[in-house]
Amino acid sequence: MQAHQISAKKSLGQNFIIEPQVIANIVAAAGCDAQDLVLEIGPGLGSLTQALCAAAGQVIALEIDQSLLPALRQSLADCPNLLLLHADALQTDLQQLLAEHRAGNLRPGFLAVANLPYYITTPLLLRFLEQPALPWRRLVFMVQKELAERMQAAPGSKDYGALSLAVQYRAQARLAFSVPPSVFVPRPKVASAVIVLERLEAPPVQPQDEELFFKLIRAGFNQRRKTLANSLSAAFLDKPRIMAALAAAQIEPSRRAETLTLNDFARLADEIKKLTE
Ligand code: SAM
Repeated sequence: MQAHQISAKKSLGQNFIIEPQVIANIVAAAGCDAQDLVLEIGPGLGSLTQALCAAAGQVIALEIDQSLLPALRQSLADCPNLLLLHADALQTDLQQLLAEHRAGNLRPGFLAVANLPYYITTPLLLRFLEQPALPWRRLVFMVQKELAERMQAAPGSKDYGALSLAVQYRAQARLAFSVPPSVFVPRPKVASAVIVLERLEAPPVQPQDEELFFKLIRAGFNQRRKTLANSLSAAFLDKPRIMAALAAAQIEPSRRAETLTLNDFARLADEIKKLTE
């Protein structure tokens, strides 16, 4: 950092890993080999990137901070299987980018591995989880520990929300290991954890319209203290139709989104679809 006069930018969630064992553990959790394409979001100073390049067939890394690119190009000069791009992962069409740049002779699909900037974790995860056409097989992300717990939360718990449902719809989540603040420079204020999301072959429920299903989940949790009848009629459809859909799906209108299972949301989405067709 000194050689390149770099200082960490808090606004971009820059907390760099300085502990080699943590990097080795992330790569082990990714379980990649020479047949794999790995997408890394936010290579930072390149320590994880270098280890991924040694383990994978190809690495495509997207870094938003242009000022890090000269240092990255220098430290990763001996990684011929790396494509380093200056890009915002939230604004990039990942499907198109990967299809355009992927090397031949690799397994179909890709793995995404990252020490994620915490401020984009939820929107980025939702992009992966809500877009069925994005062909990821496994996501291995360092996230805030509290968020890792939220992903695995069950209905009725205070941590259960739109992210838990999206994760459990698309993946099998496993908390691989916890990480203390001392392994980063600068140190974050909170504990972190590496979570592994293994894509399910098929979701555990099959709503007829997946887009509507996710829209419904978001509307339900937008005002999570409200009853479903109120939160959905405020954000989604008029109240008589919401009441009719809730009755057809056998869900009490006084219930709150946080008590509904994936199955409840799928049934309700199907009933709403019938009423809007
Ligand atoms: N991978 C490095 C490591 O583990 O030491 C850096 C991790 S740091 C927590 C997050 C990195 O993501 C930073 O380099 C930051 O500039 C980058 N970043 C932040 N927002 C981004 C975005 N929207 N798209 C791509 N990279 C982003």
